[in-house]
Amino acid sequence: MQTVKKIIIVGGGIGGAASALALHQAGFEPVVYERAPHLREVGAGIALWANATHILKNLGVLSDALEVGCLTTNYQFNSQSGRELVNIPVDGFELPVIGIHRAELHQLLWRNVEREKFVLGQTFKRFEQEGKTVWAHFTSGLTIKGDALIGADGLRSRVRTVLKGDQPPVYRNFKTWRGLTDYVPSRYRPGYIQEFLGRGKGFGFMKLGKGQMYWYAAATAPEAHPDAPVGRKKELETMFQDWFTSVLELITATDETNILTTDLYDRVPSRPWSQQNITLLGDAAHPMLPTLGQGACTALEDAFVVAQCLKEQADPKAAFQQYESLRFSRTKLIVEQSLQSGKMGDLHHPFSVALRNTLLKLMGSTISNSFKSLQAYRA
Ligand SMILES: Cc1cc2nc3c(=O)[nH]c(=O)nc-3n(C[C@H](O)[C@H](O)[C@H](O)COP(=O)(O)OP(=O)(O)OC[C@H]3O[C@@H](n4cnc5c(N)ncnc54)[C@H](O)[C@@H]3O)c2cc1C
Repeated sequence: MQTVKKIIIVGGGIGGAASALALHQAGFEPVVYERAPHLREVGAGIALWANATHILKNLGVLSDALEVGCLTTNYQFNSQSGRELVNIPVDGFELPVIGIHRAELHQLLWRNVEREKFVLGQTFKRFEQEGKTVWAHFTSGLTIKGDALIGADGLRSRVRTVLKGDQPPVYRNFKTWRGLTDYVPSRYRPGYIQEFLGRGKGFGFMKLGKGQMYWYAAATAPEAHPDAPVGRKKELETMFQDWFTSVLELITATDETNILTTDLYDRVPSRPWSQQNITLLGDAAHPMLPTLGQGACTALEDAFVVAQCLKEQADPKAAFQQYESLRFSRTKLIVEQSLQSGKMGDLHHPFSVALRNTLLKLMGSTISNSFKSLQAYRA
């Protein structure tokens, strides 16, 4: 029995858009308030593992995702010179693994919800709770009344700050670069995500739909470290000059304007995420390092689960408590494992690097099993 109808969603990223779709399909009236003037995602790719394509299937958008994405069969780790350390087949699930452009994924989610359910250019400031009602106040002066509110406003969530008053996220000493190009390296293995691990830095790439290659690099760096005066592309060409040939080929083939940089943060997992008829979702609830590629995948899981809980429980407080207990331990594990994986990349001494590479080779099947168990989860 549903008594709750109008759900305010703050933030229209992948988590907010997926929540709007899941709630709309579950019979609610979600409205997304997004601070950006346009619905958009950054120009980069994303890996959607089987735990996430399960959600796309439930939301009825998997076949569309397959049309604009690229099927992935293997996740391979290599030394910087290209010696294979671990090769994990990821095509053994009943669901596919897809490499997809973020904007394509984002569009798949929001184009299935009426356009007027996305209110753009509104920056959330604070909320007030009064009985069964929540009021959201925006910096523009707009005030909106709802039955419940979901904070899907990302890493530096304002909803989280107002709800929990906690500290800023933790910088984990990594800077990343992401690039897109149409160039496919001659030695690229179709269907593979290939990663290369070196001393305090790493590089990976995968194919997206429409023939695009997406690559990413990470290196240890102080927070907010500026680009080198020679520019991002030249800096990367120097950093990776003696690496496996495909790495340099990809950097060289990419326009400087298609290279993004991002510093990496997470938070130590903590509860609560919810207070009465307000809860958090995606990076607002459990930001993680991207080392396991699960941030957006778990935001999709959250969106589906929160809609199911609201459908099952008439009272949003009970629904959000159920949602939080279903999601906390799963996401805590992934946040912690992502941090551990990050530490493997934070090795500088040649001896430590050689030891890590040997261990990766020896522990191939253990790593593969732990990776697969994350993906075997069905929300
Ligand atoms: C380098 C890198 C690589 C990654 N690779 C992967 C991958 O392969 N697979 C994967 O699953 N994940 C990956 N991730 C993680 C993934 O990008 C995030 O976990 C995911 O985008 C989180 O989605 P979200 O909707 O929770 O937050 P966001 O995408 O941050 O969206 C939040 C939205 O809220 C809006 N907003 C913020 N504040 C306000 C406010 N006050 N009022 C209104 N609106 C507001 C923002 O404008 C934004 O649109 C990667 C991350 C990085 C940095």
